[in-house]
Amino acid sequence: MADPQTALRQLPAVTTVLATREAEALVERHGRQATTDAIRKALHDLRQTYLPSGGSALGRERAPSPSDVAGSAARLLDTLSTLRPVFNLTGTVLHTNLGRALLADAAIEAAVAAMRHPVALEYDLDTGTRGERDDHVRSLLRELTGAEDATVVNNNAAAVLLCLNTFALRREAVVSRGELIEIGGAFRMPDIMARAGADMIEVGTTNRTHAADYRDALNARTGLVLKVHTSNYRIQGFTAEVGARELAAIADAAGVPLMNDLGSGSLVDLSMHGLAREPTVREAVREGARLVTFSGDKLLGGPQAGFIVGDRALIGEINRNPLKRALRVDKVRLAAIEATLNLYRDPDRLASRLPTLRALSRTSGEIHAQALRLRSAMAERIGDAFTVEVADCFSQIGSGALPLDTLASAALSIRPHGSQSALDGLAASLRRLSRPIVGRVADGALLFDLRCLDDADEPAFLAALSERNADRP
Ligand SMILES: *Cc1c(COP(=O)(O)O)cnc(C)c1O
Repeated sequence: MADPQTALRQLPAVTTVLATREAEALVERHGRQATTDAIRKALHDLRQTYLPSGGSALGRERAPSPSDVAGSAARLLDTLSTLRPVFNLTGTVLHTNLGRALLADAAIEAAVAAMRHPVALEYDLDTGTRGERDDHVRSLLRELTGAEDATVVNNNAAAVLLCLNTFALRREAVVSRGELIEIGGAFRMPDIMARAGADMIEVGTTNRTHAADYRDALNARTGLVLKVHTSNYRIQGFTAEVGARELAAIADAAGVPLMNDLGSGSLVDLSMHGLAREPTVREAVREGARLVTFSGDKLLGGPQAGFIVGDRALIGEINRNPLKRALRVDKVRLAAIEATLNLYRDPDRLASRLPTLRALSRTSGEIHAQALRLRSAMAERIGDAFTVEVADCFSQIGSGALPLDTLASAALSIRPHGSQSALDGLAASLRRLSRPIVGRVADGALLFDLRCLDDADEPAFLAALSERNADRP
């Protein structure tokens, strides 16, 4: 091993690296300027490792070759785009921080076509006159939910905001104290109500709300009665709530609409797919709510969107609210939504076509077999400082859907032979890969729950693990 000073002198010059075949390929892809900058940065980083405080270069067999430096530059250029695909092995299927639902192939193709070509977004091809953006999904949503009419906005938070603003601006919105939810990412029902311009009238208590509580609160200033599906928590024990059917009758008698915010909402009975039951949108409509709101990218398995289905007259009023224009969705998402909803017309093939449902309905036996298949390949790539075992674990649905309902699954469990900090270092290095691998740490082990690793993704997963070794001198 040469001393640091000699090694520093042996680092290749920028022009030498630029002349390599690897660098030429980078210039082709990223341009000369960006490639040169990345090579300079890679060389700078390497020099740091030779400084006394850096020290990690001690023990190197040889100085990095021009190709090595080009390789480092390639990885720097790859990581420049931060919104890049990751492996979600956290065990949370609808992980809000990792982008929730993955789209079905049909939805992806529809979105790409809409990006590439003009589409009849607000154009009636029959008459050659102006059409309506919502028309593309209106009839599908009516068919799938049994509602009279439907509209779609940016997300469910927007759907709730828009309903409140349309019917309870400078009026009162009545809601149970047991349903004043907070959803991750700063969605708090009282704050949304305030921003919608509604006066929030809380009724009942945290654990018990009765029909009389609602009746007593209704008056000439009431604009809306709100029911919220407590999607991410349960109140158990000495409890009472007023069911949607009874509440709809109370609201109807007072001449105000009942709005039911389902949150995730599902268009099919999930118990058919081995999951616990979540209220379906069709049920909520049938129970008499005049408006029902739900998300596009939770259990429904589509792109981010918020749906409002319900009475035609009320949807018409919502569409005339100027805020609707500010909350509308673009053609790309609309194309993906239409294609996703279309899949629901063929329930038999839904679980094989909709990635969210496919991941949620995988059996623990199937995932266990996959873990056994990958264990030794993983152990080889992780190195001798760790043991890799197959462990039973539980996956979560995520996004607040069915919070108490976990799914039996299997994980690759990694434990360090040495200190715990070695495990943190490993987890960090896997998050720095060009396609990062994100797991979770539990009881001193790094767990990779394989529920969300599609069989077809296994080669890419193993390739990503190998890349980690390539960066080590
Ligand atoms: C998730 C959720 C929302 C917010 O929906 P987004 O689509 O994330 O905006 C609102 N209400 C309930 C009950 C929810 O579960």
